[in-house]
Amino acid sequence: MLTSICGINWGDEGKGKMVDLLSEDYDIVCRYQGGNNAGHTVINERGKFILNLLPSGILRENVTNVLGNGMVVDIKHLTEEMGRLKEKGVSITPKNLKISDRAVITMPYHVLLDCLEEERLADKKFGSTRRGIAPVYADKYMKKAFRMGELLHPERLKARIADIVEWKNLTVEGGYHHAPLTVEEVWNYFETYGMPLKEFICDTGLYLNNAEKEGKKIMFEAQLGALRDIDFGIYPYTSSSSTIAAYAPIGAGVPNLKLDKSIGVMKAYSTCVGEGPFTSEYDGEKAEVLRAAGGEYGAATGRPRRVGPFDVVASSYGIRCQGADEVVLTKLDILSVYEEIEVCTAYELDGKIIHDFPFSDALDRCKPVYETVKGWHCDISKCRVKEELPKEALDYIAFIEKACDCNITYVAVGAERDACIKLK
Ligand code: GDP
Repeated sequence: MLTSICGINWGDEGKGKMVDLLSEDYDIVCRYQGGNNAGHTVINERGKFILNLLPSGILRENVTNVLGNGMVVDIKHLTEEMGRLKEKGVSITPKNLKISDRAVITMPYHVLLDCLEEERLADKKFGSTRRGIAPVYADKYMKKAFRMGELLHPERLKARIADIVEWKNLTVEGGYHHAPLTVEEVWNYFETYGMPLKEFICDTGLYLNNAEKEGKKIMFEAQLGALRDIDFGIYPYTSSSSTIAAYAPIGAGVPNLKLDKSIGVMKAYSTCVGEGPFTSEYDGEKAEVLRAAGGEYGAATGRPRRVGPFDVVASSYGIRCQGADEVVLTKLDILSVYEEIEVCTAYELDGKIIHDFPFSDALDRCKPVYETVKGWHCDISKCRVKEELPKEALDYIAFIEKACDCNITYVAVGAERDACIKLK
């Protein structure tokens, strides 16, 4: 059984919480793309955890966690993240954590270049999380990156460092006029943060294939959402990897296997971190109300998120991109602040009403078309079964389900693990 949990919107939909909840029935949870540029917040009986690199299954004792080959791994960040979890009593051993030998290593100079480039762009900046993600993926495709498996062959690794440093300095020193990198600092970095991870590194594709043959249930955990996908998102304001469910078997190391199910996680309203077109964006007082109600500040960066009503056009596109068989609607409790709820049901583009998510250039010119539906305006965060939800909340779910032509099977009404209602 292979299931993917993916984001329908711009990220921060609450995927971590859903992986934490649904992983109870799974043996393995695998991250297949991205790095430590996003944060999954998980709150359960053991406390509150912010996970940047580790799969959310790490909080379950019987789940094996995999960092797949599609990921970029900041080894210093991973070491610190593992340390924070261990302090809270989470056990992390080579038995419950496996890192792909093909995963690429995010280096300090990737972070440096990310910052230097955002500073150069000044008011035209992309809104990067400055975690080095775009520079490290660029190096992957330039075939100039270091991979985790190289840590197992130090002599070969040492030989490559000089070549890479020489090449990288053409940009660091030559392009940005920054102090050059040295071979010594790169080697020391691997010794400090890379070598201690050696016991976790293996051929995770082989591991997953064998596990699948044994009948193990595997869950793939995406980071970010469809609208941040490098191909299908709001390019160039996207991430640098594929956040799409169909990529999960590739980024996990099992391109020979097919997904059985794609579960899309979709927020009951819209949020977006960073720059780029965001059609159904509220501003001023309206934005403040929704941001405060939803506590919309980035888990990885603390940045205030841009907020607005649910966007049917963007979400329908996200559902299509993710091939979502089922959808989980999260943070419905936040909409309790409203007596009436606005929903963006279409865009106006150059005087025409459109329902299909357009190409980037046209997206910049789109204006939201809102419809208003009745709110429930009472606390629903304690509801645990469908029957406890007010009629207006059920009507809102039905409205979204019909407008997006999707199958909403769960609704989340709080951050805690059990604040979730199974609808079907
Ligand atoms: P992810 O990256 O998709 O896992 O999402 P984030 O962790 O960045 O953001 C989701 C935030 O909303 C986290 O702080 C969660 O604890 C919280 N959350 C998830 N689902 C719900 C929900 O249904 N209601 C409320 N109030 N908070 C939720």
